[in-house]
Amino acid sequence: MEKISPNRLDRGFYKYQEEFEAKALEVLRSGWYILGNEVKSFEEEFANYVGSKHCVGLASGLDALWIAFRVLGIGKGDEVIVQGNTYIASVMGITINGATPVFCEPDEYFNIDADKIESLITEKTKAILVVHLYGQASNMDKIVAIAKKHNLRLVEDCAQSHGAKFNGKATGTFGDIGCFSFYPSKNLGAFGDAGAIVTDDPKIADDVRVFRNYGSEKRYYNRVVGTNSRLDEMQAGLLRVRLSHMQELEDEKRALCEKYLKEINNPLIELPKIREGATHIWHQFVIKCESRDKLIDYLNEKNVGTIIHYPIPPHLSEAYAYLGFKEGSYPITEKYAKTVLSIPLYNGETKEEQDYVIKTLNEYKG
Ligand SMILES: *Cc1c(COP(=O)(O)O)cnc(C)c1O
Repeated sequence: MEKISPNRLDRGFYKYQEEFEAKALEVLRSGWYILGNEVKSFEEEFANYVGSKHCVGLASGLDALWIAFRVLGIGKGDEVIVQGNTYIASVMGITINGATPVFCEPDEYFNIDADKIESLITEKTKAILVVHLYGQASNMDKIVAIAKKHNLRLVEDCAQSHGAKFNGKATGTFGDIGCFSFYPSKNLGAFGDAGAIVTDDPKIADDVRVFRNYGSEKRYYNRVVGTNSRLDEMQAGLLRVRLSHMQELEDEKRALCEKYLKEINNPLIELPKIREGATHIWHQFVIKCESRDKLIDYLNEKNVGTIIHYPIPPHLSEAYAYLGFKEGSYPITEKYAKTVLSIPLYNGETKEEQDYVIKTLNEYKG
């Protein structure tokens, strides 16, 4: 068996090769490359897909996050509660603005533990940043209630949760702003960097629209000091092609994961759990294993590639040494960093590949 990669972006391209190539040529030949009809159409289609009133295309998921906090006026002296076990970009979205991240331990579904949020709220707390990690919706009933009760802003990091729902409502629509990434490996992936925010608030949408383009509403008239974070026509066009196939792509991944859940039966491996009321769009299939590092070596030897999402939690990262946390500050977060493992999962994964991954995992003896 040829080495099986944890992800295969080429498969996702070849699935709709003709459509992608036709769209790329159309954009190239249009003579219009920044903020045109493709971006406008994508914004409308994506807002519609999520069930949100407005979408503003941006250059990346990180931009979506930091610009979200910027337009909400959250910065120096403010605290934002975020789960400890997230990709570091969630935290950078907070700290780029000078605000302080306050880490919360995760629950058994790898999302923020809603029961631990209230004890972290101080006079400085301005917002909760929810990350729907690995593609599963967080416990939004409780989180929305806490945000309301304490008059906090609610921002959702949906970089991994395009189309995931909680009680029938899509992630990204529960709070003030939903932040999306379309990095190539995400469930809705571009062919380069791309991101967006969604919101129901026309003022927020307008502020982000102005901010992404140097703070300018009208060319050469600058309302605020903004940035350059424009989604380009090529990425928007290609995203429209992929978005038109989202249901099929999602169904394919769900079927793959249902098979994993049914057929992986090694007692040394803990399978992911699904929260009641939540849907999982399976950005990653994340298992837990006490002897994780040994499992990685074993799988490597057998030609099965894996990735750890994520080996170093943000609070222990060198970048955040200034926050002063140590090993032991967040035991659950740290335990996850030592035991989680993402196994191969991608659109276009063949039955042969998946059967081999399952058989190899089931033969692991520790
Ligand atoms: C990918 C990701 C981001 C950042 O998105 P980029 O487009 O790479 O900037 C933010 N948060 C989470 C949870 C992510 O997975």
